[in-house]
Amino acid sequence: MTNHLYDGLLAVGATTPDKTFALLPGGRHFTYGEVGTVSARLAHALLAAGLQPGDRVAVQAEKSLEALMLYLATVRAGGVFLPLNTAYTATEIDYFLSDATPRIFVCDPRKVSELTPVAEKVGARIETLAADGSGSLASAAETQPARFTNVARAPGDLASILYTSGTTGRSKGAMLTHANLLSNAEVLRDTWRFTADDVLLHALPIFHTHGLFVASNTVTIAGGAMIFLPKFDPEVVFAHLPEATTMMGVPTFYTRLLADPRLTPETTGHIRLFTSGSAPLLAETHRAFEARTGQRILERYGMTETNMNTSNPYDGERRPGTVGMPLPGVDLQIADPETGAPLPQGEIGVIEVKGPNVFAGYWQMPEKTASEFRDGWFITGDLGQIDADGYVAIVGRGKDLIISGGFNIYPKEIELAIDELPGVAESAVIGVPHADFGEGVVGVVVTSGETSEAEIITALGDRLARFKQPKRIVFVDELPRNTMGKVQKNLLRDRFADLLGDSRKA
Ligand code: ATP
Ligand code: MG
Repeated sequence: MTNHLYDGLLAVGATTPDKTFALLPGGRHFTYGEVGTVSARLAHALLAAGLQPGDRVAVQAEKSLEALMLYLATVRAGGVFLPLNTAYTATEIDYFLSDATPRIFVCDPRKVSELTPVAEKVGARIETLAADGSGSLASAAETQPARFTNVARAPGDLASILYTSGTTGRSKGAMLTHANLLSNAEVLRDTWRFTADDVLLHALPIFHTHGLFVASNTVTIAGGAMIFLPKFDPEVVFAHLPEATTMMGVPTFYTRLLADPRLTPETTGHIRLFTSGSAPLLAETHRAFEARTGQRILERYGMTETNMNTSNPYDGERRPGTVGMPLPGVDLQIADPETGAPLPQGEIGVIEVKGPNVFAGYWQMPEKTASEFRDGWFITGDLGQIDADGYVAIVGRGKDLIISGGFNIYPKEIELAIDELPGVAESAVIGVPHADFGEGVVGVVVTSGETSEAEIITALGDRLARFKQPKRIVFVDELPRNTMGKVQKNLLRDRFADLLGDSRKA
């Protein structure tokens, strides 16, 4: 047993230096031996740049193998890896750097002039790293030794601060320890049967828990390989699928694959595992994928703060519309949002989790941290229910729950009803202020053909109880989504806040 995240992740890989760790588009192979030497050189360069144990290394870099090596190098050097979304603007970077006060900030060379003053403001040293592996940090690493003795860390020491996706509000920095990340990597390797023979198609960003930890850590700890793609592009994905054994994706990957005629049993039959997470996979998408390929996607549920909580079974039934059962070592309960008392099976409540996967708290937010824990349980903020066979279903987010005239309304149920109607591509249901009911239901719809507000409201009349029916349907060209494909309902609530404002007269 080892405590250090790097030693744990590389336990197999360190013994197979000639084996491929990553395949890059264009045919380049990167071996486990290179993982060791490249991360060692970068770790030396970080120490030379002044890194002390526990210091944050903030990184806004395009997805590249070098950026992934920087994660491992930071951990080896005793630092705390803090990746930032590549889409963030200078103003947003300013917020994150002020919050995180990193010792070192690494950015793309093209952004260095814009971001230097931002880094200087917080006293961070600025370095660069480009997608092709060039940049000041890479140059500094070149002359460093290829061996590095990892800086000792205790299991409870931080390995990463990862900001949440900012779907429900401002992103919070989740503090993740060596033990958190290592235990989750072990559990996912065992649950999903990853071995050194696996080749994962990796098209996820690496500034998020899904691509950085769930995908990369699980493959690494098994000593397997990944096809490391800069982004999800169906052309490139279909070109590389023959070499893969597994693929991890977000639901939008699967809808895009479904839109492609190349998705057939012939092109996918050799893939032993497709997983989905980060956002709800519609049962409809799931079934369509199975009809086209004969494969059932394994849906799982996690979050930045807790790593992975649940997974559908590897061998047993993968049930569409559910996220499966708690992973080994994870305790999960459905609790009354007010009192925290566990609810009987089948009832809807807030999902709470406990286990070695659960983070050490929000960075610089002790009060927020305290308010999100109750008797040792982390209150996820997601609403869910457990069926008689133990499968967990996510009903929505607590913040999206609509309380209208004293009734609890779960937007997902209404969205599913709207999405089935002709002419509807997708929908998001929100609660907006209503003079009589507190909140009123509004459906925000993207069309795929002919439909109208009156048609949708009439059609829902037969399907939903009166109190759940939308007061208004509004049409938009697209739903606002963050980079992980999650619908940002807070933006819709702001935009349509006045929509039912005069409802008292109506
Ligand atoms: P923020 O906390 O900043 O508002 P966020 O919650 O979207 O953003 P993440 O930690 O990236 O940030 O996402 C975790 C959330 O994603 C979960 O709490 C849950 O709401 C959602 N999620 C993850 N996997 C699934 C899934 N399989 N089905 C439904 N929702 C999921
Ligand atoms: Mg969240």
